[in-house]
Amino acid sequence: MRGSDRIEQIYRDVVRRNPGETEFHQAVKEVLETLGPVLDKHPEYAEHKIIERLCEPERQLIFRVPWQDDRGEVQIARGFRVGFNSALGPYKGGLRFHPSVYLGIVKFLGFEQTFKNALTGLPIGGAKGGADFDPKGKSDGEIMRFCQSFMTTLYHYLGEYTDVPAGDIGVGTREIGYLFGQYKRITNRYESGVLTGKSPQWGGSLVRREATGYGTVYFVEEMLKARGDGLEGKTCTVSGSGNVALHVIEKLQQLGAKVVACSDSNGVIYDEQGVDLQVLKQLKEVERRRIRHYVEHRGAAQYLENGCIWDIPCQVALPCATQNELDEASARRLVENGCIAVGEGANMPTTPGGVRVFLNAGVAYAPGKAANAGGVATSALEMQQNASRDAWTFEYTERRLREIMQNIHRDCFETAKEFGSPGNYVIGANIVGFRRVAQAMLAFGVI
Ligand code: GLU
Repeated sequence: MRGSDRIEQIYRDVVRRNPGETEFHQAVKEVLETLGPVLDKHPEYAEHKIIERLCEPERQLIFRVPWQDDRGEVQIARGFRVGFNSALGPYKGGLRFHPSVYLGIVKFLGFEQTFKNALTGLPIGGAKGGADFDPKGKSDGEIMRFCQSFMTTLYHYLGEYTDVPAGDIGVGTREIGYLFGQYKRITNRYESGVLTGKSPQWGGSLVRREATGYGTVYFVEEMLKARGDGLEGKTCTVSGSGNVALHVIEKLQQLGAKVVACSDSNGVIYDEQGVDLQVLKQLKEVERRRIRHYVEHRGAAQYLENGCIWDIPCQVALPCATQNELDEASARRLVENGCIAVGEGANMPTTPGGVRVFLNAGVAYAPGKAANAGGVATSALEMQQNASRDAWTFEYTERRLREIMQNIHRDCFETAKEFGSPGNYVIGANIVGFRRVAQAMLAFGVI
């Protein structure tokens, strides 16, 4: 059977075996579509059913998370942790607290994470988890009680050599603190390496907070460099205003680019003079408020309620909010308005139709699993520091992050060329990640 025929068959089976999990289907399809030539080159992968095994998570946990709100009322959320693949290291990936979370989202994220983590070249397997809990509008006490309840079930399945969660949407340093505190209390172990994204005051790594955003910008910088261009003076738009978006904006500004817009799920800020990061950080990180309040501090800026950020002309677009936030029509508009590069700080933010538009238009397009790998890479650096009971400087850690991003770019670039699609980072990223996981799986036999 030809590689591409076999892959169609595998995809049909995935859809049949995982009904209704549309985001998971989408993530699998996007990877499988690029693997036909790899199977033709490596018949041993087909013989040992590597792809079939890769599409089936190694383990999936769904659990009840009961908690009490501030009025004393009992609430019930659903928790998840999917260990997708541990061929290259312990399960590693974030936790997402958001009302949209269900098994299909967790599996798409865990599947992507497996390839992303392989791309970093560091010893980490792929996983994801979270809950359909909505942190929006919750008090600090409610967040703490929820995290404690969540960990009281999850701790059985974690360990620095087994499964190491971190943050994702809705989970930052504060939540990691409550989760770690509960783990420490119920296990009687100060096991720093069981969670990453900790505060540097108690075992976290410097640069982890900045890493996803900074890394995304480094990747875009490398893509532009490969085309004889650079970020200096470029007009950029960044969707979202969470941890990733804020640090994408910060690094873009450090490298001389101008960021004119960002957003949240209610609307868009357009600031022609360039976004004021101090105002934004104060609003989002300290006051935890919506971005509509930005205009109270910056009179010249506009707030576009329910606006679409991709309507705003830019040369570089950085989707840093969530999955499927940039569709085909938005991609067309970006291209028409002169966009030459796209770097995904979020996971799978561009729909398959949108990706096609970018690739056909010759836009330098960096898929999330390559572009945003700096976050989890720095998590692996945090694990290294924890294992050696060491703490590195900001400068050293940032240098390591930058080198990792440069290496990921080089590997994707060269592999795309090797497979006859120069400049196609989708193909490059999928094949590099897949080959690394596949080689390890082959070595381990049928497990
Ligand atoms: N949630 C992040 C991601 O999508 C980071 C995961 C981690 O650091 O383990 O890669």
